Amino acid sequence: MEPDGLIDTFGRRITSLRISITSQCNLNCFYCHNEGQNGHESQMSSGHIVNIIKTASKLGVTKVKFSGGEPLMRQDFEDILVAIPKFRNVSATTNGVTLSKRAISLKSAGLDRVNVSLDTLKPQTYASICRCNEDIHPMVLDGIQSAVNAGLTPVKLNMVMLKGINENELDDMISFVRLFDGDVILQIIEPMDFGNYGGSVDMDAIEMDLCSRASEVVERKMHRRKKYLVDGAEVEVVRPIDNSRFCANCSRLRVTADGKLKPCLLVNDNLVDTGSAGIHELETLFYKAVNLREPFYKG
Ligand code: SAM
Repeated sequence: MEPDGLIDTFGRRITSLRISITSQCNLNCFYCHNEGQNGHESQMSSGHIVNIIKTASKLGVTKVKFSGGEPLMRQDFEDILVAIPKFRNVSATTNGVTLSKRAISLKSAGLDRVNVSLDTLKPQTYASICRCNEDIHPMVLDGIQSAVNAGLTPVKLNMVMLKGINENELDDMISFVRLFDGDVILQIIEPMDFGNYGGSVDMDAIEMDLCSRASEVVERKMHRRKKYLVDGAEVEVVRPIDNSRFCANCSRLRVTADGKLKPCLLVNDNLVDTGSAGIHELETLFYKAVNLREPFYKG
């Protein structure tokens, strides 16, 4: 590793890599940001993914998050996990649809924990958000239970707050999380507008309500996210919109499914294509991408 590792021109150290390993998904959520990527279906070879992750490790990255599309669409996900170096934290964000079949093998292959997207506890609402059959919802609940059983914990439930759709389900979701005795955390997410969502929710009101009920409030270093402990359930709030503190504390570099280093989710004109670069060239490309990083919302 270089003595100083990856530090951008705003002094932000890159310690986290979020890598999309396929653009394919088995759901079609109406608000999806597709990890900021548009267009054609794509995925990298497993060898190239491993080389990118090895490079990140060499340059001081300590956390890797696999995303998609849907990462579990890749049948070689376990092989990729086995081939990468040891990190402090290896996680994946998944819709959980096929997680019950894979939880044990993913854990054995080296995955530490998962985020599972679950916006609602109602199968009908789920079907209308994800534009799928209602039978999918119980499969996701099975996936969450299997992840807990396999030790992919803490499982974080990603709940995107959608105006007029699931706003009233926050308490039910907190009660659901409480059933898992600390193995499941609720992460409520402010929706980002990629031209396909139904308007903003009042996140200030939600946070004030959580704050009034919390026995403890903690601020995480990552993005300065707040965590509330509400009657034994942990609730984390992710608020990226118009949030210069979020950007000032961003330690993440992204990789798109077609192998481009992406300095910011919200910016598309500064991608650095890794093409078929080998390990040495990848290092140079990482530095190039990090030098292009700018806070999207500046203080
Ligand atoms: N398919 C995987 C999943 O469901 O986790 C990985 C990809 S998905 C794009 C990753 C996360 O981004 C999900 O938890 C999803 O809810 C969240 N997400 C998608 N579109 C969003 C948006 N417009 N605003 C906020 N979060 C969003």
